[in-house]
Amino acid sequence: MIQLENVSKIYNLSKEVSVTAVEDVSLAIKAGEFVVITGRSGSGKTTLLNLAAGLAKPSGGKILLDGQDLWSMPDKDQSGQRSKLIGFIFQFPSLLPTLTTLDNVLLPITFANGAGPEDAAGRAAELLKTVGLVDKVGAYPRQLSAGQQQRVVIARALMNEPRLLLADEPTSNLDERTEQEIMELFQQIHADTGITVVLVTHTNQLVRYGTRSVTMAEGRVVESRDVAQP
Ligand code: ADP
Ligand code: MG
Repeated sequence: MIQLENVSKIYNLSKEVSVTAVEDVSLAIKAGEFVVITGRSGSGKTTLLNLAAGLAKPSGGKILLDGQDLWSMPDKDQSGQRSKLIGFIFQFPSLLPTLTTLDNVLLPITFANGAGPEDAAGRAAELLKTVGLVDKVGAYPRQLSAGQQQRVVIARALMNEPRLLLADEPTSNLDERTEQEIMELFQQIHADTGITVVLVTHTNQLVRYGTRSVTMAEGRVVESRDVAQP
């Protein structure tokens, strides 16, 4: 699903100063895996996820998404390919406060030039059911708890039926109990749909929810191991 070959990302802060955020990373993620990437703050997790999503251009190396090199295709093909394939959950996702949860979940369709599935609203409602918010379809974000808002964000990321779900610290501003519920939701979605999940977190304890854990330190992948399934 994702293949990174000797990938690096260097940010040039000025002529003299540069930061190597990701250094010589080679990593292959197969379809159907649930990979949890951990590492300290500043170890390059977000940069790696953005590279995998085609949101950042590598300074070196090669990235294949579903066998295709996004950076070798024209811009519009690239963004089309990306939005078809990937659901992305940013670290600080925002719901639009003036839209109901249903309309927030429908947003990706609105952006994908309106050419969504015929019954987009029906699909959005179904997704809200999947994430356990069947009774919140008409609610506004301010009427939801942080955990419920994150459920809406997850439903929204699934709207375009992606085959790959990428999430950057999706539980970082939740209490422990809610964190557990959200991680179980990712597990449930992974098990029910077979979607490939790559989730980034600085919390080591969350690796048990995945099928594989990958550890980063100073821009490099320092460990990759399968997680024993219960
Ligand atoms: P993590 O998500 O593990 O906390 P990041 O990928 O955000 O790590 O950052 C890795 C390193 O790259 C850090 O040293 C960070 O300061 C630097 N970095 C990240 N993004 C940028 C950027 N846009 N410009 C300059 N430096 C950046
Ligand atoms: Mg980060």
